[in-house]
Amino acid sequence: MSDYWSTMGGIGVRLEMLGHQIEYSTFNRAIVITASSIGRFDFMMIGPDDERTCAWCGEHIGRVYRMGRFMPELPKHIGCRHFWDIAYVGERK
Ligand SMILES: [Zn+2]
Repeated sequence: MSDYWSTMGGIGVRLEMLGHQIEYSTFNRAIVITASSIGRFDFMMIGPDDERTCAWCGEHIGRVYRMGRFMPELPKHIGCRHFWDIAYVGERK
């Protein structure tokens, strides 16, 4: 078990984590780039809030950030399942 991460199984798990991280960060960046190109700069963090959600994410779900103003990077950590969604601030939907 001490050398699990260098076995084929362990390497597979690490590659899967890396793939997840790249996929989620590419997706989140695409949302922000696409939205800002049409003049939307406010984003709400969305995603599951369950027993697998970490304390940081649990606190930030539903919060709205403006691009370039202390907006965190998503995914926040390995295994993070949270996304940016366009937020409609101070206007009717
Ligand atoms: Zn998260």
